[in-house]
Parts: sequence; C-alpha cells; structure tokens
Amino acid sequence: MKKRINVQFAIISLVAILFTVGFATIVYYDMFRKEVIQSLKTYTHVLKNSGIFENDSVDDQLAVIDELRVTLVNADGTIAFESNADIGKMDNHSQRPEILQAASEGEGAAVRRSTTRDKNMFYYAVRLDNGQILRVAKEAESMISFWLSMLPFLAITLLCLLPLCMVLGHFLTRSIINPIEDMAQHIDEEGQKIVYKEMQPFIDTIQQQHRDIVKSSQIRQEFTANVSHELKTPLTAISGYSELIESGITTQEDSVRFAKEIHKSSKRLLTLINDIIRLSELDITEDIVQMELLNLYELAEKCVDMLQISAEKHEVTLILGGSQCMIRANREMMEELLYNLCSNAIRYNVPGGRVVVNVVRRGEEGILTVEDTGIGIPEEDQERVFERFYRVDKSRSKSTGGTGLGLAIVKHIVAKHQARIELTSKEGKGTRIRVILPR
Ligand code: ADP
Repeated sequence: MKKRINVQFAIISLVAILFTVGFATIVYYDMFRKEVIQSLKTYTHVLKNSGIFENDSVDDQLAVIDELRVTLVNADGTIAFESNADIGKMDNHSQRPEILQAASEGEGAAVRRSTTRDKNMFYYAVRLDNGQILRVAKEAESMISFWLSMLPFLAITLLCLLPLCMVLGHFLTRSIINPIEDMAQHIDEEGQKIVYKEMQPFIDTIQQQHRDIVKSSQIRQEFTANVSHELKTPLTAISGYSELIESGITTQEDSVRFAKEIHKSSKRLLTLINDIIRLSELDITEDIVQMELLNLYELAEKCVDMLQISAEKHEVTLILGGSQCMIRANREMMEELLYNLCSNAIRYNVPGGRVVVNVVRRGEEGILTVEDTGIGIPEEDQERVFERFYRVDKSRSKSTGGTGLGLAIVKHIVAKHQARIELTSKEGKGTRIRVILPR
C-alpha cells in the first residue's frame, strides 16, 4: 500500500509539474508575442512617420535597425523594397494575412513561418498614404522552440522536485499508515484512540467481530467442559456398579439393583448425547431450514396426547386450548419445541397442578403459550435458563430426566424461525412461556 501511494504521489507530482510548465509556456509565449507585436507596431509607425520611404536611399538609413526585416509592398502585391532578401525571388505578397488586413483595415499583424526565409516570423504591416504597405518583420522563436528552450529548466525542476516529492510522499504515507498499523496491532483493546474518524465504523465492526469470536470460543470451551462433566457422572456410576457385579461378591438382589442403576445411567447418557447431537446439528445447519405449512394447533394436540401419561404420573392436569392456526415452520423443530416446553411445565410442576397449552392467531402471528402452576423460576435465573446446561435445581432436573439443554434447543429453534420467546414466572406460582411465530 505504501509503495502504491508513493508511486501515485510521484505520478501526480510529475503530471502537476508538466501541466504547470506547459501552461506557463503558453501564458509566457502569449505575453512574448504581444510584446514583440507591440514593438513591431512602434517600429512600423516610426518608420512610416520618418518619411525615409519617400527618397531612394532607404538602404543606408535602414542599417540602424538591422535585426528587422523591412518590406515595402506595392498595392498590387509586388515588392517595392525588401531589406533582407532578394526581391527577384519573392512572390506576390498580396495574399499574406498581414498585408490583406493592412490593405483593408490600415494595419495588420501576423505570426507564421516565412516562406521567403523559412523562419518563424512576427509581422506588422501598415498602409502608407500612397497605398503602399510597409511591413516590418522580426524573427522570433516559435511556441515549440520556446518550449524546447525551456526543456533544460524543466529537467532541472524535475530533478529537484521529483526526489523532493518522493521524500515528502514517503513521509506523508508513513504518517497516514503508521497510526493504522498501530491501531491494527491493538485492535482488540477497547477504548483505544481512533486517529481517523472515517475508520470508526470499520474498527467497530472488527472489534464487534473480535468480541463475538472470543465469546463464541468461550462458550465452546465452557460447553466442552460441561459436556465432559455431564458425561462423567453416569459413566462413573456405570463403571463402578459393573465393577462390583464383575467382582462376584454382590448378592443376587444387589446385582439386580446395580443393573437397574447401570440401566438408568446409560439411559441418561443416551438422552444427554441425543440433546448434544441435536444442539450441534442446530449449530451447524446455519440458516437453511426446510419450512412447510403446518397447523400449530394439531401439533400441540399431538404433543399433549403424547405427554398425558407423564402428566398423570406427576399428578398434573394437562389441557389444550385455542384454535386452528396455520404457520410456516419446520415440523420436526416445532414438535421438539412443543415437547420441551410441555415436558418442562409437567416436570417442574407440583402434584395437583395444571398445565395449559394454548394456540391462537393474532394478525400475522401464531402464538403458542405454555402455562403451568408449578414451582416457578426465581427472577435472577430467568435470563439464564436458556443457557446450555443451566439448571435452577440440578438434582430436580436430573431426577426428572433433564439435561439442562432443553431450553437451549428451544432458543435455537425460535431463532431459526425468526420467532420471539417471552418468559414470565413467579417463584412458587408458576411459569408462562410464549412463543410468537411469524405465519
Ligand atoms: P432441563 O433439562 O434441566 O429441564 P431446560 O433447559 O429445559 O433443562 O431448562 C433449564 C432449567 O430451567 C431447568 O433446569 C429448570 O430449572 C428451569 N425450568 C425450565 N422450565 C421450567 C418451568 N416450566 N418451571 C420451572 N422451572 C423451569
């Protein structure tokens, strides 16, 4: 980048120098031209007024102004007098621009290459009283030779200015780039001074991304640690009980009891692994979710039917209310969401309690409510219950077959459906969870 800026800076300087020199040449040449024409005009008038063209000894008297070429042209264009060329070789001058102009307007000027002398000439012509035209010419540099004569100065200027521009460019780019490099090195430090305010959005995005990466890596680390910990408990139990049975010292009765424990722990392992696999599936399948038109009420009905036995076991009344409601959603995910919410409402309930599942349509939204009269969630835990492995009462969760992942899965499903979830709960009174789904 530095190199590119340096090269561009050098090119800009070069173009600027060439432009300035070119423009200056045009301006100076124009001034020079006006100056020469003006002096020719003065000479011409002085000559005209001197009256030397009225006698024959013009030659002797003109010696004084040798660097000028004086021509006297007759009204028909033939040459009456010429100071610097052979009259015999000169053609008719009636069509020369300055002569034409002088013949019609009294005075005329021109700058061109002389065919007689093959040089760049400045002409000034004036009509005499007798109809002849007196023309004074001066050899002068053309624009190109004027420009060429400036080349050495141009070369010197370039030689001096280019290195200067390059050095300046180098320092300028360094002063621009250094703070950016400095910032890049400390990009993760909050509240660092931003040198260019134009870079603020860029820095904000990078810092936000950095925070997200750090956070997600922390979550991953925590998750791995939690998973290992969760798996360890049932595995330790399985290993311990099986070792006891293996030793052959246990009674028949104990062996059956231990086998039951092994069975329970392995079932727990399976549920845990299933939930973990489900979560990582939800993590991987980014945004591509197969949606279909579903009747949310029917799904809720199926779920309620399925959980009736579990509800009875917990001495909880499970009822469904509301009306038909079509939504666009993923069937499997919706079944999972319903199951997790309803089973929680049953498991964290009290004997004699109630669970009401309700489905309603509200405008462009479908609203699913699962309300229970259970133990409720303390205020300070309400935010955190959606975190992976977060449980208010670990032993209660475990004893009812919980993994601490149910609500984390629900949260994921809700996000995948661009839905919203609201939780209201009062300890000892009950919990209400509402999922608002776009239709
Ligand atoms: P778990 O498998 O432990 O039930 P969840 O992620 O489903 O895990 O829920 C997380 C925690 O939130 C539970 O352990 C429980 O403490 C609390 N919780 C969830 N639903 C309810 C509810 N309806 N009533 C009271 N507490 C609940």
